[in-house]
Amino acid sequence: MEKLDSFKVDLKGMISDTVSYQWHIDDRFFSAVQGPEIQQGQLDASLQVKRTSGVYELTFGFAGTVKVACDRCMELMDQPVEAEQTLKVKLGDRFEDDGDMVTVPEGDGTLNVAWNLYEFIALEIPIRHVHPQGECPLDAEFEESSSEQETEKPIDPRWNDLRKILDNEKK
Ligand SMILES: [Zn+2]
Repeated sequence: MEKLDSFKVDLKGMISDTVSYQWHIDDRFFSAVQGPEIQQGQLDASLQVKRTSGVYELTFGFAGTVKVACDRCMELMDQPVEAEQTLKVKLGDRFEDDGDMVTVPEGDGTLNVAWNLYEFIALEIPIRHVHPQGECPLDAEFEESSSEQETEKPIDPRWNDLRKILDNEKK
């Protein structure tokens, strides 16, 4: 786990009320974390820790792409992810995570946020993720076999948003 040492946040030892961290996350991060959903990706991530009356507010931000299997062809595709998430942490007797608040043992006073960050990234993967239209290896076959398919296929508004993001990235 030493590969993830840079994700260790020293809460107890904070010398000012705000501390910031920056990381570039790549495949090595995902292989060290060993999460089930994501094995590869490239993202820039940041963390701002704010200390206010015994509670630490951790604000994570990240943007980039992760590789996930396309729902149609099962080949890996780039899924853009971008979000900001917060986590509240306090010091206490023993480690606890009740969903809203993480308690870190006071004697240690540090929290390795690698897994928290991983979970926030994994949350951003849409339930349905497929290659952009025309880029899925199954597209050619699909169009030939069913020309009426177009009318039956409901257009998910999130799909249009994703198209916009992908189109912008190509420019
Ligand atoms: Zn595909």
